[in-house]
Amino acid sequence: MQVDYIIVGFGLAGMAMAKELEDKGHSFVVLDNASQVSSRVAAGVFNPVILKRFTPVWNADEQLENLVPFYKEISQRLKKEYVMYFETLKVFKSIEDQNNWFMACDNPLLEKYMNPKILKNKVHGVQYFEGFGEVKGTGRVLVKKMLEDYTTYLKSKHQFLSDSFEYEALEVGENHVTYKNMQAKKVVFAEGYGLKENPYFNYLPLTGTKGEMLFIKAPDLKLSEQIKSALFVLPMGEDVYWVGATFNWTDKTLGATSKGRKELLEKLNSMLTVPYQVLEQFGGIRPTVKDRRPLLGKHPIHKNLIVFNGLGTRGVMIAPTAAKKLYQHVENNQPLEKELSIERFTALYPQDVSHI
Ligand SMILES: Cc1cc2nc3c(=O)[nH]c(=O)nc-3n(C[C@H](O)[C@H](O)[C@H](O)COP(=O)(O)OP(=O)(O)OC[C@H]3O[C@@H](n4cnc5c(N)ncnc54)[C@H](O)[C@@H]3O)c2cc1C
Repeated sequence: MQVDYIIVGFGLAGMAMAKELEDKGHSFVVLDNASQVSSRVAAGVFNPVILKRFTPVWNADEQLENLVPFYKEISQRLKKEYVMYFETLKVFKSIEDQNNWFMACDNPLLEKYMNPKILKNKVHGVQYFEGFGEVKGTGRVLVKKMLEDYTTYLKSKHQFLSDSFEYEALEVGENHVTYKNMQAKKVVFAEGYGLKENPYFNYLPLTGTKGEMLFIKAPDLKLSEQIKSALFVLPMGEDVYWVGATFNWTDKTLGATSKGRKELLEKLNSMLTVPYQVLEQFGGIRPTVKDRRPLLGKHPIHKNLIVFNGLGTRGVMIAPTAAKKLYQHVENNQPLEKELSIERFTALYPQDVSHI
């Protein structure tokens, strides 16, 4: 079999690359082994404001501009709607919180997203402190459903293999690669935290941050907005809420833990004043990088091996823009911005294994 590209991994990064390649008329095959689940457990929220510090997300305007048509086109391709819009309400715990909010509202990068009026009306079932701040332009992509449907779509076109990519079976030539019975011009590696197993790119400083979350049922909590207090609580429909998430920099195991559950429940109990029932708990490892920027680009030696990783805590927002830029870089040699390119880590590439 001959294709233009092999894509390894089908989370948000692999999917964004698959869309870009399909849009531009390239042939490709995807391999995914379901070993990482970050995209599948994510809330799927996009939000241009970092609510911990009231600062703008890096390049938020550009990312939101690309996000809307990107997910709309996927919706058209798969004939389903995957984007929902809602407001986000930030709970103010103190007058200082309110003051910081007012100050941030004056930031020209934030004023279009932040409502300077403090909302004093109470939200039923949510602990009231000093009112709420409202963020506009937020919403959610139904990532898990979208990935499932996209997988079915690609399978119907014989472009998806539920299989592990075995790195030792890859033969890298000057202008093409051979992988088992396939020949391809290029391979895009989009394995999320699974990149750690990739001998070509595991020199990159992917730290990985585990996140755990809960699904709860709370019939008395009639939220239509997302609430941010000690945790995010967002409505999923039929009285079910996504609740999360934890941040753990040391635990690299997959799956839910009792420690994670305890932390989530303690925080949730400080937020809600109505009863709830825990339905499920999940965990996944976010592919985070210390400098909080993606890892995009060509291998230092083998230019037909490409990496698409480092989407961190905001894959939904950044994946469309990152895919677009990576494609232009790989196919049309357009330079990548310094902050996105793995060239910023070339010094980490181990010279003694340059034969890889
Ligand atoms: C609890 C939690 C909540 C989150 N909430 C949000 C949110 O609300 N909004 C947001 O924007 N982001 C959120 N994130 C972050 C978001 O999930 C990530 O930014 C994004 O999903 C990363 O996508 P990815 O494709 O790089 O990695 P992944 O989703 O991990 O996908 C990598 C894929 O590669 C596959 N793979 C790995 N190795 C191999 C191999 N050798 N062979 C074949 N396949 C392989 C894996 O099976 C996996 O399917 C959250 C993350 C967590 C954990």
